[in-house]
Amino acid sequence: MSDLATFAAERGVKYFMISYTDLFGGQRAKLVPAQAIAGMEQDGAGFAGFATWLDMTPAHPDMLAVPDPAAVVQLPWKPEVAWVPATCVMEGEEIEQAPRNVLRRMVDAAAAEGLRVKTGVEAEFFLLTPEGDRISDVHDTAAKPCYDQQAVMRRYDVIAEVCDYMLGLGWNPYQNDHEDANGQFEMNWDFDDALVTADRHSFFKFMVKSVAENHGLRATFMPKPVEGLTGNGCHAHISVWDIAGQANAFAGAGTGQTGEVGLSEKGAHFLGGIMQHGEALPAITNPTVNSYKRINAPRTISGATWAPNTLTWTGNNRTHMVRVPGPGRFELRLPDGAANPYLLQAVIIAAGLSGLKGKADPGPRHDIDMYAEGHTVKDAKRLPLNLLDAIRAFEADGTLTAMLGAGFSASYAKLKRQEWNAYTAHFSQWEKDNTLDI
Ligand code: ADP
Ligand code: MG
Ligand code: MG
Ligand code: MG
Ligand code: MG
Repeated sequence: MSDLATFAAERGVKYFMISYTDLFGGQRAKLVPAQAIAGMEQDGAGFAGFATWLDMTPAHPDMLAVPDPAAVVQLPWKPEVAWVPATCVMEGEEIEQAPRNVLRRMVDAAAAEGLRVKTGVEAEFFLLTPEGDRISDVHDTAAKPCYDQQAVMRRYDVIAEVCDYMLGLGWNPYQNDHEDANGQFEMNWDFDDALVTADRHSFFKFMVKSVAENHGLRATFMPKPVEGLTGNGCHAHISVWDIAGQANAFAGAGTGQTGEVGLSEKGAHFLGGIMQHGEALPAITNPTVNSYKRINAPRTISGATWAPNTLTWTGNNRTHMVRVPGPGRFELRLPDGAANPYLLQAVIIAAGLSGLKGKADPGPRHDIDMYAEGHTVKDAKRLPLNLLDAIRAFEADGTLTAMLGAGFSASYAKLKRQEWNAYTAHFSQWEKDNTLDI
């Protein structure tokens, strides 16, 4: 019996959801009865790539999504179904631009250097009414709602259900809270290898949305779903280990300003790569039109956006793009809830490896309150102000786009430009209000 057929027999799984993630982060799947899974495990499930965001034409041959049995997860809320992420292939070749393939290439590139990248993500979300137009809890109106004890208990049924599922899946969840916006929550589980974290991140989004739907609610990871409130970040915490995963290469004595906050020389260079490629990152870490209403945003009702404006790094201070919360790791605070789980990890590894290779210097540490005193920093670059600037900056970074794969990068930028063009072609009330009487 194949691995998945055995899994089905042992666990009473009736259907497999063979799933892949497209370039816009959409999760696409076919439901395959367990009886047919052995053949699919061998050959893959067939899809018309053009029908999703993969930069293909209707004339392309079938794309086959070959499930990765090592990553299968039984749905805790529907145990007769199991989700399994797939490797996308066409005519025997891996599809270069398929996001999980991009990440697997970056994991291999790190392994070729004897390194293993481990990451954790903080995928914030809002719980809205089913129509998505309001916060579901009408009593959740405090100006500073972060960690609100009463409000988190009003959503206990959803939060505890998801946390129980994570416990059962062995992800080691360790805390849940009400976040800084009304209706916003965060649930944290332990970091792991970048591919494991990306698969869990994808599954987490699917799980939170599904559980919320079962409770008559709508969960959203949209970067800025409510004007004036703090947006949905998706901070990534990063460390790099030896290939056995035993020794943290970011820990240990370092030098200079990075050494002072507990990063080794390798940690400093990896961070240097993130800083060097910082202008190119947002096309992937902040991939939607709406993303730019979270970064570079005016102060929110709670008092702070908690999102960066500028390409700066610091120690344990949450007002910069990168925070080093303690020894042996750093936090990239740039990504938002729209970031594609696979491309997010891939771009971090690509930028970091480039920094290691070139022994990149992260530049000076800034310990100020960036929101209050940012104007005093003269030597820092601003983050892109909109998606178009971000795409242009991505295209201009030849090193990063080559590392990610020239074909992937061209496809990604092309589809994102189409998205931007669709947005600008859209007639808005704003332009009418501001132009009618001109
Ligand atoms: P904060 O809100 O302070 O930024 P959280 O506790 O919400 O932090 O999230 C921290 C994330 O960082 C978790 O996923 C955690 O497992 C992860 N993490 C902790 N240590 C490391 C490390 N050495 N390498 C990578 N990720 C780490
Ligand atoms: Mg058909
Ligand atoms: Mg957190
Ligand atoms: Mg948070
Ligand atoms: Mg954080």
